[in-house]
Amino acid sequence: QVKERGRGSYGFYQPQMNANLLSRMKLEHAMRQALGEQRLAVHYQPQVSMETGAITGAEALIRWTDPEFGAVSPGMFIPLAEESGYIVTLGAWVMEQAVREAAAWIHGGHPIVVSVNVSALEFRQPDFVERLTRLLAVHQLPPTLLELELTETILLQDAAEMEQRLHELAGLGVSLAIDDFGTGYSSLAYLKKLPIHKLKIDQSFVRGLPDDDGDRAIVSAIVSMGRAMRIEVVAEGVETEVQRAVLAQMQCDHYQGFLRAPGLPAEDFRSLLGRPVAAPPGVPAPQPVVA
Ligand code: C2E
Ligand code: MG
Ligand code: MG
Ligand code: MG
Repeated sequence: QVKERGRGSYGFYQPQMNANLLSRMKLEHAMRQALGEQRLAVHYQPQVSMETGAITGAEALIRWTDPEFGAVSPGMFIPLAEESGYIVTLGAWVMEQAVREAAAWIHGGHPIVVSVNVSALEFRQPDFVERLTRLLAVHQLPPTLLELELTETILLQDAAEMEQRLHELAGLGVSLAIDDFGTGYSSLAYLKKLPIHKLKIDQSFVRGLPDDDGDRAIVSAIVSMGRAMRIEVVAEGVETEVQRAVLAQMQCDHYQGFLRAPGLPAEDFRSLLGRPVAAPPGVPAPQPVVA
């Protein structure tokens, strides 16, 4: 295993290093170039209200197109960035793009929530809250229009300190979502004591809808639990109208998936939001567009 020692230099090199490892190193190198060379982009995938069909928010998803490797999937390079620590730099860049974009949505008449994935290592940075607070102030984004997507793993590490950090963020008005809910190893007890606003049902459970009995039971249980605990529930990876209908029947609050739209370049997402709704005098905030 290659561990980085400081600025881009590797601690050892062995000629017998296998192709796998070598290509990992190439990929890691290319990833570090990508940011400076502006080969990274942030795309936005709508989150849709089940009840009204309105777009209520969007998840920021990083995209990388490399001249040699082509489009590299985040599923491939995010874990690499997490191992090397580069995710801290990458994540800060995504956060800035997302916050700026959400501020632009407000000015376009669409005050909707931007949701940003945050890796454990980023979240554990001692100055995470401080930097985020400054970023929100610089771009004048109300904290209530930012949501952080955390995985259950984050809640397991340094529990006491992370708990305090979550309360601090919630105190600012930032929303906290648990991503890939149901796939981690944590207990459910944290839902009682932590300020969690949203559960994102992992797409592996949504995929089996409506036929798989196990998936149906799990999804339905998560939705009921969310309702009882006043935690919003979003279904991820909704691809078919049948899946949407089943989720609607279960009274799931929101959905996200290819059925509505994949992650879109910022400009395309703005067109999806449409023109600002002309507000009658005295009515300040236009409502999000309805499908
Ligand atoms: P995630 O946060 O669970 O994001 C949802 C993933 O599901 C995205 O994959 C999205 O494109 C995909 N997806 C959305 N709707 C559908 C659908 O209907 N069907 C299918 N099959 N897939 C759908 P993506 O963009 O490849 O990202 C994969 C993972 O990489 C994300 O999973 C997240 O964990 C991570 N990631 C992406 N962007 C960032 C980022 O900026 N920072 C961090 N730390 N992680 C990121
Ligand atoms: Mg996510
Ligand atoms: Mg997810
Ligand atoms: Mg995921």
